[in-house]
Amino acid sequence: MDLIQDRLLTTMAIYQNQVDYLEIRLQQSESTAIAYRGSQLDAVNRNFSLAGGIRACQKGGWSFVTFNGLDELNNRVEEAISQAHLVGEETTQLALVEGIIDQVNVELKRDPRGISLQEKRQLIENYNQLLLDFDPRIQTTAVSYTDQFSQTYFVNSLGSCITQERLDVNGRFGAIARGEGNIIRQGFESVASRCDYNVLQGIEDRVQSAAERAIRQLEAKPVKGGQYTVVLDPYLAGVFIHEAFGHLSEADFVYENPRMQELLELGKPMGIEQLTVVDDATIPDLPGSIRYDDEGVQAQRKYLIKDGILTQRLHNLETAGKMKEKPTGNARALSATYPPIVRMTNTAIEAGDHTFEEIIKDIEEGVYAVRMLGGQTNGEMFTFAAAEGYMIRNGEIAEPVSDVTLSGNVFQTLKDIEGIGNDLLYTNGGCGKGGQMPLPVSVGGPHIRIKNVVVGGR
Ligand SMILES: [Zn+2]
Repeated sequence: MDLIQDRLLTTMAIYQNQVDYLEIRLQQSESTAIAYRGSQLDAVNRNFSLAGGIRACQKGGWSFVTFNGLDELNNRVEEAISQAHLVGEETTQLALVEGIIDQVNVELKRDPRGISLQEKRQLIENYNQLLLDFDPRIQTTAVSYTDQFSQTYFVNSLGSCITQERLDVNGRFGAIARGEGNIIRQGFESVASRCDYNVLQGIEDRVQSAAERAIRQLEAKPVKGGQYTVVLDPYLAGVFIHEAFGHLSEADFVYENPRMQELLELGKPMGIEQLTVVDDATIPDLPGSIRYDDEGVQAQRKYLIKDGILTQRLHNLETAGKMKEKPTGNARALSATYPPIVRMTNTAIEAGDHTFEEIIKDIEEGVYAVRMLGGQTNGEMFTFAAAEGYMIRNGEIAEPVSDVTLSGNVFQTLKDIEGIGNDLLYTNGGCGKGGQMPLPVSVGGPHIRIKNVVVGGR
């Protein structure tokens, strides 16, 4: 048996009876980061780390303590246990799950650990130059590369002992264009893989499309504000379902919020029968995919909305225990030095059966909103700014428009979805919650058509 694992199990055996629940997580990782801003090399880092976290629960009170090496492990565990005893005043309510013993390895294609920093830097520099040279109106760029390989050891007092490898390779390519009257437009593209450095190879066209989009948007005139039938592209549909709805499905949020408990009562109709929303951690090679979550619960495909009906929400062991629902394997931590909290994985609106042409063909005047520039949510209200916009006129895509912001109430907007495309696509992203970001997730959707959306122009 692995020495580290052996050591964690020995410590667990000594202390596990002193609290209601105890877990130890240790992560060994190596990572690379390269970043360019314009022609300037902003950062080149290689990093190795070994660090962990201990979580204890006693009478419903939680503690979390980090540690930097195995030498101090037992002292830190004792600290976590005494802190949990200090705060616990109720009863511990955790969903009952069986301990799991397993080892999860990554099936690597081209391993970034075998490639020199020099070679990675050259590749990213070339892509950066491609953007800078694309058009004189490209003012600057934001281009970055990151890879991280980690091995995480996990043991808990329920008898789990899990070792998981994980690789993330990411490339991000942003271009900023400046046009007449000093207007600024951005274009963005990204690639990600969980097993292969070669995802970065031969993507010149894709990288250039970031600059193309920024330039194209310079021609766009601000959209006239009003209520429109709006078609979201798959990327924006995915962002919408993650940001506006997914976060409300996280049970830690629902549990603390009586109004949300009422609005999100399981069994409630949420939209048309064709509307199905999943959070699926089991799809291979996506950023949000995991075998086990950070409490050792097996990852699953969950139907948040199935055939228009609210069916499930996202849980960790405690929210599942308190709400008397099944654990869903959604406890995730940014790294072993953060406590796991309820998080999404790969969240998507499932495909329907309409082609894009069918979705737009009877729209007299509408807006086609593409990709995401930024946005915010506040409870059930949301505002998103699309990165690109086009008018839809008489069933066809017409002139580009800028300043397309969409806002509304998420529950009304879900009800107003009236068409769902057959072209589901997942996009990689980073999610922020509780000071832990960017957590790797993906968002997915097909083209969707929504009526009565408030579009704000300038
Ligand atoms: Zn998020």
